Amino acid sequence: MSFENQVVIVTGGTRGIGASITKSFLDQGAIVHATYANNTKKAEDFYQDINSDKLFLHKFDVSKFDECENFFNEIHKSFEQIHVLVNNSGIRKDNLTATMTDDEWSSVLDINLKGTFNMSKLAVLSMMKKRYGRIINISSIGGALGLPGQANYAASKAGQIAMSKSLSKEVAKRKITVNNVLPGFIETELVSDLDPELVKSYTSQVPMKRFGNANEVAHAVLFLASENASYITGTSLEVSGGL
Ligand code: NAP
Repeated sequence: MSFENQVVIVTGGTRGIGASITKSFLDQGAIVHATYANNTKKAEDFYQDINSDKLFLHKFDVSKFDECENFFNEIHKSFEQIHVLVNNSGIRKDNLTATMTDDEWSSVLDINLKGTFNMSKLAVLSMMKKRYGRIINISSIGGALGLPGQANYAASKAGQIAMSKSLSKEVAKRKITVNNVLPGFIETELVSDLDPELVKSYTSQVPMKRFGNANEVAHAVLFLASENASYITGTSLEVSGGL
């Protein structure tokens, strides 16, 4: 799978699953625009570690449409085509529905779902002109199963799946595919605050009896972004150890 000089955007691409996706595309020759929102130190350390003139960093909030628009305008000054968008940015703010605050609901929906809408809308406007594109959302098995305490997160992740079904039908004629990867439990900072007892219980529910790693998610993303996946759209690929 070569992505030589393809232009790839990975939101939240400087740490966790996003960092593995960024590295995997760079390894295959792509030019990667990795975005982040708050953690400048992590992003700069990542940039230094990678040390590639094909990696570009951008700091903005995917939930703000005007910031997303500025980002697209900026990259279009130097790059005429965008080949791949990976909507990976995401947050969790778990709470039981009965006690969930307005902010816990809205911020998760704004970043995970509206962020995906903002970036996808701008990407397809650009991809339609070139009659080619790949959009991959990092949704979650939680969007299909729904875990207790994650009504906001599950709704946002199920929303990505539903949105991709509509969008894939709108753009299929123009050779743009839109798919989701649904990770199960993956070892990153996003799940580092989980209670050890809960980790034990989740692990026991996974048929493979372990959490996955970020590279295992990245492999699925690269497949869906490749030429090999040219007839796959509007669907989801679970990377969950059988969960
Ligand atoms: P992570 O390590 O917490 O990284 C989250 C990324 O999202 C960071 O790069 C962060 O940027 C970025 N981000 C947060 N808010 C943002 C905003 N407003 N605008 C733009 N970017 C923002 O999480 P992860 O585990 O790698 O998860 C990546 C994706 O996989 C998420 O969508 C998550 O829901 C999904 N997922 C993860 C798991 C898992 O078990 N880890 C399972 C299923 C699905 P900063 O670095 O600036 O904070």
